[in-house]
Amino acid sequence: MTPNHSKHGSSSISHNPYADVNWTETTHCLSQFHLHEPRNQIDPHSASHDPPAENFTTTTERSTPSELIDKYQHAGYGSLAITEHEYYVDGTKHKGEPFFEELEETSWPWSRWDRDRSPNEMIPIQGAELRGTIDGIDGLHDIVNLGTDLGHGRERSLLKVATDIVMRGGVSFLPHPGKYVDPDSIELYVTMFQQVDSLIGIEVFNAHDRYPSSRAIWDVLLTELGSKRPVWAVANDDYHARPRPAGSERFDQSRTVLLLETRSPSNVIEALQQGHSYVQYNDTGVAPKIESVSVDDELVRIEAPSASTVTWISAGEAVDTGTEITVSDVPNQYVRAEATGRDGAVSCTQPLYIEQTASTF
Ligand SMILES: [Zn+2]
Repeated sequence: MTPNHSKHGSSSISHNPYADVNWTETTHCLSQFHLHEPRNQIDPHSASHDPPAENFTTTTERSTPSELIDKYQHAGYGSLAITEHEYYVDGTKHKGEPFFEELEETSWPWSRWDRDRSPNEMIPIQGAELRGTIDGIDGLHDIVNLGTDLGHGRERSLLKVATDIVMRGGVSFLPHPGKYVDPDSIELYVTMFQQVDSLIGIEVFNAHDRYPSSRAIWDVLLTELGSKRPVWAVANDDYHARPRPAGSERFDQSRTVLLLETRSPSNVIEALQQGHSYVQYNDTGVAPKIESVSVDDELVRIEAPSASTVTWISAGEAVDTGTEITVSDVPNQYVRAEATGRDGAVSCTQPLYIEQTASTF
C-alpha cells in the first residue's frame, strides 16, 4: 500500500464511466473496430487464423467480407466495423497513387454481401482506416473512422480528418499509437484530444500486442489530460486474413468489449463515446471477463473471478494489487485496473477519475 497522502483532505471518484452501467442487465458485446477485408481464403467456421503460414504468398481466391463477418460471429463477436485502408479498392492496393473517386468507398453496406444481420446477431458499423498528416510525424498517421461514410483522408491534416468525422456524426480513434510516437513525445496528440470531442481514444492492444508501448502512451495521455478529457482504450485484431508466421497470427487476439443495454449501431457509438467498455488481450490464454466495476465512497472494486491478479495503475505505475483499492491511496488523478489471467491474457478497465478535495480546518 502506498501511504495515505491525503491527511489534509479527502479523495473521491469524480468520473466513473461505469457509474450508469447495469452490470447484471448488460450484454458484454465482443467487438472489433479495426479490421480489413480478407487478403486470402478463410474458413468462416474456424476459431483461429487460417491462411497458411508456411509460405507467405497470397492466394488469388480471396474470401469476401461475408466470410469475415461469419468468422467473427462464429467466434462469439457481436459487433464489427470493417475498416479497410483508404488506399484499397476491392482487394487492390493503390497506395501512393493520386486520389480517384472509388477510393472514397467503404466496406459498406453489408447487404452487398448479403449480410444484413439483425443487431441480435451482429451489429454492423460503417468505418474505414484513414490517414492524415500531423506535425512531428513523417508520412501519414492512421485514424479509424467509425459510423460515417468518409472513406479517404485526402492527405489533409489528421485534425481536419478527425473534425470531418465529427461533422458527419461519427467517432474516431488512433490505431497503434506505439507505431508513431514514444511515451515521452505525445504532446502532438494532446492538442488533438483537446480540440476534437469525438476522438474517443487510442488502441492500446493491436493484434498480438504489436505495440506494447501503446499502454504507456495511454497512461501519459490520461495523466496529462485528466478528467476534463477522458481517453478511452480500444483493442483490435487489425485482422487482414493474410499468411503470418507462427506466433504473429492476429485473429481473436485483441478486442473491445462493449457493455450494451440495447443492441443497435447508435448504442455501439454511444458506448464507445461514454467508455462503457473494457479491453482484452488473449495472448496464448483467455482474457478474464470483467463482471463488474463498482464504487462506494472509499473503495473501487472489480469482479473478475477468472483473474489470478488484479493490478491497479495510476500515472503509469502499479499502485496496488487485489480486487479493491481505497480511493485515497491513489496518488494521481486516475486509476485503472488490469485483470491478468493465465498465459499472458489480460483485461483492462477504462480509467476512473479522482478528485482531491482540500479540507477546511
Ligand atoms: Zn489496419
